[in-house]
Amino acid sequence: MTKETMSGGCLCGAVRYEVTGGVKGCAHCHCRMCQRAAGAPVVTWFTVTGDHFRVTQGALKFRNSSDLAERGFCGDCGTQIAFRYLKDAGKSIDVTAASLDDPEAMPPSFQIWVGSRPSWMHGFDAELPERKGTTEN
Ligand SMILES: [Zn+2]
Ligand SMILES: [Zn+2]
Repeated sequence: MTKETMSGGCLCGAVRYEVTGGVKGCAHCHCRMCQRAAGAPVVTWFTVTGDHFRVTQGALKFRNSSDLAERGFCGDCGTQIAFRYLKDAGKSIDVTAASLDDPEAMPPSFQIWVGSRPSWMHGFDAELPERKGTTEN
């Protein structure tokens, strides 16, 4: 995984962020919660540990998507940027790979919650290993 600084932001440009290392992994998530939150069949997330993720412009609006987790998005345009378990606040945060300025910098290496993948997504990244999800949040 890259240790260089990566930047990204939302569709309208109000929220900008920076990742300065601490990347733990990247995965496609097929869960229903992500599908609903993004209005898309799959959301690709990478995990950033510690304080290596920081918002450099604007602010993320956080909303609980369950009792266990919250999702951060641009309050103006709605782009989903972050996910974190409440218990991990300050320790770990997931960031949407497609909100990076250069999504090529963060290729996923596995996928979770494939049971919720729509049948019309057949063949999608079939070579990537499938891991069991914990809970949908
Ligand atoms: Zn925005
Ligand atoms: Zn998900």
